[in-house]
Amino acid sequence: MAASDSKTLLKSDAVYKYILETSVYPREHECMRELRLITAQHPWGTMASSPDETQFLGMLLKILNAKNTLEIGVFTGYSLLATALALPSDGQIIAIDMKREYYEIGRPIIEKAGMAHKVDFREGPALPILNELVSEENNEGNFDFAFIDADKVNYLNYHERVLKLLRIGGIIAYDNTLWGGSVVAPPDEPLSERDRELAHATRKFNKAITADPRVEVSHLSIADGLTLCRRIA
Ligand code: SAM
Ligand code: CA
Repeated sequence: MAASDSKTLLKSDAVYKYILETSVYPREHECMRELRLITAQHPWGTMASSPDETQFLGMLLKILNAKNTLEIGVFTGYSLLATALALPSDGQIIAIDMKREYYEIGRPIIEKAGMAHKVDFREGPALPILNELVSEENNEGNFDFAFIDADKVNYLNYHERVLKLLRIGGIIAYDNTLWGGSVVAPPDEPLSERDRELAHATRKFNKAITADPRVEVSHLSIADGLTLCRRIA
């Protein structure tokens, strides 16, 4: 597998394989493995997060002592299950996706893992659902963590809403913030229209949040780029 096909921007496939085989797969929850393998069979399977990334998110959630979380972009529920496994038994994830049919693929495995009670799945476009959450009493500042992994062109719209829901000290993790490295593609690089548009949106997003005084930012090169924003104001 060429580095460009794998779920990492690491230049060496051998090093990535080493990380997975040495530090990730031996500690992988059996239901995470099952869902990873089922998802890989799906025609859009590459949309799922990478195993090293979900391992990282799980540890981050524990360090944060996260209890109330939000996920935008669920697909088969692979990052959702990683989140559920890292939360305490009374933890909760509001999980939003336009397509329940994707979530239904992973739901039996989430149930088998004993995690279904933590998931509040909401089907529909994320923006109106977020607007509703923001308008509901008691939601403001009530969330510890959000994983944003849906339509990249809306990341800045999600940012404004999710910041209202997040407590001070809470973290928003934005996925795919390097978009396959296309953020640095020269103008004459043969990119598809969609990739060109997403590279532009991603560059705009990365600049805007770095300039946002309400958050601290850490841009990680794990997977396809993961940007952590910690709310400070
Ligand atoms: N977080 C998942 C994981 O790591 O396994 C992968 C999510 S996948 C990259 C993106 C998902 O976002 C798709 O399932 C798609 O249906 C959903 N999506 C795209 N645009 C959306 C929108 N505007 N509102 C809600 N969901 C959306
Ligand atoms: Ca992603």
